[in-house]
Amino acid sequence: MNIDSIQTGIVIDHITAGKGMEIYNLLHLDKLDCSVALLLNASSNKMGCKDIIKINQDIDIDMNALGYVDPGATIVIIRNSKVVEKRTVSLPEKLTNVLKCKNPRCITTTEQELPHVFLLTEPSKRVYRCMYCETKANSK
Ligand code: ZN
Repeated sequence: MNIDSIQTGIVIDHITAGKGMEIYNLLHLDKLDCSVALLLNASSNKMGCKDIIKINQDIDIDMNALGYVDPGATIVIIRNSKVVEKRTVSLPEKLTNVLKCKNPRCITTTEQELPHVFLLTEPSKRVYRCMYCETKANSK
């Protein structure tokens, strides 16, 4: 992949084709001041097609949010035009403030200051449930 355009920043690579926009929204990349490039359907030797996000700034990526949407993605950290670190993403055990519980009687609906916590209850099916009321999150 061509990373010449980035001197310092982060590349989210190997995103399953079609999930780039969802990750862009979930990580609130539209709120950043720096330039962000979203490449959809880039060709990949390994995957056929993939999405790539390039962020022209060293930011903290919410690895849990990313892992929830696409556990196969890779994070590449670039400084001074060199790759300094690669991190693989995995399915998180716990999601904090990524999803909101839809149960109107859930304690998080009335207690606004509580964090929204979901736990991975069935890893094989990627099922997450609210820690407080056990309501199932939207399945992917
Ligand atoms: Zn709940």
